[in-house]
Amino acid sequence: MAFWDEKSLDEMTDAEWEALCDGCGRCCLIKLEDEDSGTLITSDVRCQLLDGDTCACTDYPGRQAKVPDCIKLTPQNVGEIKWIPVTCAYRRLAEGKGLAWWHPLISGDPQTVIDVGVSARGRTFAELDIAPDKWEEHAVDWPEWEPPEQL
Ligand code: SF4
Ligand code: SF4
Repeated sequence: MAFWDEKSLDEMTDAEWEALCDGCGRCCLIKLEDEDSGTLITSDVRCQLLDGDTCACTDYPGRQAKVPDCIKLTPQNVGEIKWIPVTCAYRRLAEGKGLAWWHPLISGDPQTVIDVGVSARGRTFAELDIAPDKWEEHAVDWPEWEPPEQL
């Protein structure tokens, strides 16, 4: 049985935990909070450390020093943070859904995350290129889009 089916999130090794990330980059998009309703809106403005083509963090070990509001996902907080994308492997496992068919650990190919339309690759704008008062104009709903459970 695969480790993600066999173990709970808090039983996983660090390497197993890291391997669960599908590299979509959705969690690294700037979120905005509606002052009146408290609703969180996701934008297509990417964190200053996110590479817009590879969707990798360009300073993963030093990320929290450079981006203080970068939240490190843990087995404890993953079920509580509302903005974690519905497609996120950590969220799916925390909700008992297992990994999706397009996840690289299932498909065997990181390209499926891009092909299916989950990846943020090529769809984002750099944080430092967009003035903060324009971020609201970059609100998008595609980061919440979910592929069908079956092909
Ligand atoms: S949303 Fe989840 S799976 Fe996608 S990059 Fe972030 S942590 Fe990884
Ligand atoms: S610092 Fe890195 S991991 Fe954190 S939000 Fe930015 S790109 Fe993502």
